[in-house]
Amino acid sequence: MINFQYLRTTTAKSAIALLVKDKNAKFLAGGTNLIDLMKRGVTAPEKLIDINHIPLKQIEQVGNKIHIGALASNSAVADHDLIKEKLPLLSLALKAGASAQLRNVATVGGNMMQRTRCGYFYDIEMPCNKRQPGTGCGAMDGFNRMHAIFGTSEKCIAVHPSDMCVALVALDAEVILVNAKEERKMSFKDFHRLAGDTPQLDNNLRVDEMIIRLEIPVNNLAKNYHYLKVRDRASYAFALVSVAAAFEISNNRITDIRLAMGGVAHKPWRLTASENFLKGKEATSTNFEQAAQLAMKDARGYGGNDFKLILAPNTIIEALNLAKSKA
Ligand code: SF4
Repeated sequence: MINFQYLRTTTAKSAIALLVKDKNAKFLAGGTNLIDLMKRGVTAPEKLIDINHIPLKQIEQVGNKIHIGALASNSAVADHDLIKEKLPLLSLALKAGASAQLRNVATVGGNMMQRTRCGYFYDIEMPCNKRQPGTGCGAMDGFNRMHAIFGTSEKCIAVHPSDMCVALVALDAEVILVNAKEERKMSFKDFHRLAGDTPQLDNNLRVDEMIIRLEIPVNNLAKNYHYLKVRDRASYAFALVSVAAAFEISNNRITDIRLAMGGVAHKPWRLTASENFLKGKEATSTNFEQAAQLAMKDARGYGGNDFKLILAPNTIIEALNLAKSKA
């Protein structure tokens, strides 16, 4: 049994003070991933700082942005009238994740911080550069059916497992972070990292920082949208490939469009080239097919996940068609 100290705090300031005091301390929110990591011996924090009593559960509109506190639960966000009305893509993506029970306790901040579900990462007998830098990547020539096809490195081909984050990157969300001295704002697309030479780092959160809220601009993307998740089971399974698609049509032309994928990279993967191609064009199957081909330009498979090279463009096309059918 691994012993750890449990601490509880009620303000962000005191939570950060406790965190910086001890580099083996971790924040505990919903704990839906952290406790698994501890049970498997992947991580062994000496202190768990329970942050659940910090008042960061707000879901509200402030000016032209929707603010979501880092400790709002996944289900509270997904079921909130404001989110269902103004950011339905986010609601749909959240409901595609995990199970109802997990969504009730998992928080928005925790969802962002969850770690890859690569099996080698969770098996402490296996080589894994993410868990233990320099030991190699078991998945590279091993069982890599769930792994990345975009932005991979020679050190790690893991994917980020979140559905929520795919919608957030598509919706141009921003993350508000705080340390003992100041707040800073980061574009959501810059929060998660590619593996590169430092696969042990999942994101750009600094060691003395805490996520306090998301800010998402209100948009006109609440009519034609879809989150399509392809997975091995109908529920409680991570994405093989997922696509967040939303667009606005005026005079039969696409005037604004957002496309992002999950299950394909170390971070939520925005499809900027496909978006640029589709802007100003008609929402036709031919244009959707060309956009999907553009998205695949730099994709590569690793054997077990080669099927994603076909599944991914097909999922993009299907998500766009389903978004269009809501007109
Ligand atoms: Fe570890 Fe990444 Fe390789 Fe998985 S893909 S074994 S997480 S280094």
